[in-house]
Amino acid sequence: MSPQFIIDAAFIAAAFLFIYGLKRMSSPVTARSGIVVAGWGMLVAVLASFLYTFGVAEAAKPHLTTNAIVAAVALAIGVSWAWWSGKKVAMTAMPQMVALYNGMGGGSAAAIAAMVLLQPAVEGGHSGDLLHYGVTVFGGLIGAISLSGSLIAWAKLDERIKGTWRYTGLQAVNGAVMLITLGIGGWIVFAAGGHAPPMIVVGFFVAALVFGVFMTMPIGGADMPVVISLYNAFTGLAVGMEGYVLQNPALMIAGMVVGSAGTLLTLLMAKAMNRSVSNVIFSNFGATGGEAEGEIKGSMKPIDAGDAGIQMRYASKVIIAPGYGLAVAQAQHKLFEFVKLLQAADVDVKFAIHPVAGRMPGHMNVLLAEAGVPYDIIYDMEDINAEFKEADVAIVVGANDTVNPAARTNKSSPIYGMPILNVDMAKQVFVVKRGQGKGYSGVENELFFKDNTNMVYGDAQKVMVSMIQAVKSLDGGGH
Ligand code: NDP
Repeated sequence: MSPQFIIDAAFIAAAFLFIYGLKRMSSPVTARSGIVVAGWGMLVAVLASFLYTFGVAEAAKPHLTTNAIVAAVALAIGVSWAWWSGKKVAMTAMPQMVALYNGMGGGSAAAIAAMVLLQPAVEGGHSGDLLHYGVTVFGGLIGAISLSGSLIAWAKLDERIKGTWRYTGLQAVNGAVMLITLGIGGWIVFAAGGHAPPMIVVGFFVAALVFGVFMTMPIGGADMPVVISLYNAFTGLAVGMEGYVLQNPALMIAGMVVGSAGTLLTLLMAKAMNRSVSNVIFSNFGATGGEAEGEIKGSMKPIDAGDAGIQMRYASKVIIAPGYGLAVAQAQHKLFEFVKLLQAADVDVKFAIHPVAGRMPGHMNVLLAEAGVPYDIIYDMEDINAEFKEADVAIVVGANDTVNPAARTNKSSPIYGMPILNVDMAKQVFVVKRGQGKGYSGVENELFFKDNTNMVYGDAQKVMVSMIQAVKSLDGGGH
């Protein structure tokens, strides 16, 4: 068996593991093993790439400066940092981490492009090969945009950067930076045949990084997760292109899988918010919040947590709509404990999951799975929305935008058209939140002012504890 055969077989095995892992991630029941399978795929791909680069691939040698020790050190740093940060990250900080990792992927693709472009012209190399250098430059461009854009997205989600850029002529400035970047990139490929002076190459990457910053700074609030997903698609595409440049099949396949998955996810999120991707990038969602909403009639009526708990104990059907606040409070375990008490009292309890509840798709499913909630009582929005009108109680736990009826009725609301959970159609609605704070999009919620709604103020975990105590003392007291 030749080493080349082993490498080829390993790349095919890695590709199979990536795709099979991704397939398993599509259901919560198999998702955990899907991650493990894809992780094995990545290990195989890394080993095969090492063998390919440092062992047998003579074909790649003229275009690469290779150093096994530097590569091994870089790998060790990357693995330990990822291991440590993955272990300690809180569920609520997951989108930030995705943004950071994603940026690193884009940066790596850009670094490959930089290395290829800064390589002196070699005898028998790719000199003058338009396709080769076109792909290198384009991959480098989107990789660099993804790097700086993802870092800004991370800083915004982590509240290290507050506020967004809004000034007249913003689109024109961004357009100009983009044209300059494309111009330098085009010059490198077409005029210099891929071998431009180092200063020009550096200028190209600086311009691309600046464009990433300029593109992301004006985007705010509720759009950040969509932007991260878009950059994820960029990174995948960039990695796939640089994989082509290096003739590394594992990079090509992994890049394309990430690129297409990221694109689909971006479209899915944009659809769940009833917006187009270009609308997300070129206009501002949160910005208009509060200005065009109009007067909301009614008042917010508080209720004691224990009283609300007891009312649910005597209901026959209760639907729970969880949101980002559940994750902040880490109240999933207490919530499930409360659900089990209700089930013991013969109450039919279901969970209703909005596709963008929380800060990333699947956020709520992961949280509930962590608490051990069985999958068969968790329903997607379109499967449960018709049931709210039969529910005695709908309880909203730390959700806001995803249950705002203004999205259905108020044409002047910035969230108009976004599909929502029909919690307002239940006979009685309880909303658990800490205070009068608005949702992620910055829009006031009409639901809170409705006649059939009562507010249960407090941290979600504390509220759940009070509800549990109330029901327990009741049932312990002779029921
Ligand atoms: P929201 O951010 O709209 O609302 C969360 C609510 O939780 C807040 O009103 C807050 O109110 C409350 N809260 C915060 N901390 C606590 C706590 N400790 N205990 C109790 N309540 C708490 O969340 P949703 O899940 O409803 O909506 C998700 C938002 O994210 C949407 O705007 C969506 O468009 C956006 N988004 C989500 C994506 C995704 O993929 N999931 C993608 C893109 C955007 P208070 O401060 O008063 O407690």
